[in-house]
Amino acid sequence: MKNLMDLNILELEDYLLSIGEKKYKAIQIFEWLYIHKVYNIDEFTNIKKELRDKLKSDFNTEFISIKRKEEGSYVSKYLFSLKDSNFIEAVLMEHDYGLSVCISSQVGCNMGCKFCESGRLKKIRNLSTHEMVEQILLIEEDIKKKINSVVIMGIGEPFDNYDNVINFIKIINNPKGLAIGARHITVSTCGLVPKIDEFSNLDLQVNLAFSLHAPNDAIRNSIMPVNKVYNISQVMGAIKRYISKTNRRVTIEYVMLNMVNDSVDNAKELANLLKGLNVYVNLIPYNETSNLEFHKSKRIKEFKDTLMKMGINTTVRKEFGDSISAACGQLRSKEV
Ligand code: SAH
Repeated sequence: MKNLMDLNILELEDYLLSIGEKKYKAIQIFEWLYIHKVYNIDEFTNIKKELRDKLKSDFNTEFISIKRKEEGSYVSKYLFSLKDSNFIEAVLMEHDYGLSVCISSQVGCNMGCKFCESGRLKKIRNLSTHEMVEQILLIEEDIKKKINSVVIMGIGEPFDNYDNVINFIKIINNPKGLAIGARHITVSTCGLVPKIDEFSNLDLQVNLAFSLHAPNDAIRNSIMPVNKVYNISQVMGAIKRYISKTNRRVTIEYVMLNMVNDSVDNAKELANLLKGLNVYVNLIPYNETSNLEFHKSKRIKEFKDTLMKMGINTTVRKEFGDSISAACGQLRSKEV
């Protein structure tokens, strides 16, 4: 049986029409779920009993649950258990501009990036839409505050679960849903070219981030197996098409790995690759994990200065996670 929170508003309207109901009731149902936070269909009081019974026979409103929470300064990490006893995690971060949540999109990940804890555990399955929506609902309920921005950068490759991720974005972005502005939603991909192209054609003003992590194919092949399927020039081609279609700036993520991709020459090569494009680089200090042999770069400042001197806008990601093992997948790794 489907969960009622798997449906975006257009799908809910189609469902209502298909059972001979008026489509405006989709808005009422959305308001119960996402504004009033009422999940017992019997309590949808402006909906007549006959339709409530029909909804109950076609959908459930079951929730994932919080298994554990670890709190650090300005950051909390949630471990959720799913109905089938799998685990996923989300991270809540307190920035000066508001609260943001990093959510997971899959149980495990098949991309196999060598430095990433999530990739150590192969994908078990995609998350359904409601399992992504509920990560946000449960965190909001736990902290009694509204989330301002969402990044899809937890466990999983969002474009390997494209349809459910897009549905999730539509639900949280809907004014009658969680009303999180599109500009406050970021989806991060390791570079699945056909999906970047599909994403370019969607009329959503959502931010796109691309995990590049290397200035050339030799280095990228050695740390990211996906590069053997879609190499740097193929992905950069898709990024350029995205920029010209949407006129939106793309974030280039670059995790700083000691002695792997962090030399001044690497920075120069990266600057040449990105020159003239509407992008900015976000340098990510590596979160070390005991299971993997990579280390945090000591040359982040030098790397950043080189990029800036060559005209590339560059920021360094604020570090939150160290104290509470917030590197992607670390909390889950302890459980499985
Ligand atoms: N699969 C998607 C989104 C999930 S990973 C992607 O690849 O973009 C989110 C980001 O965290 C990616 O840029 C990933 O490379 C990076 N990352 C993974 N492990 C990390 C670690 N231990 N420390 C810092 N960043 C890490």
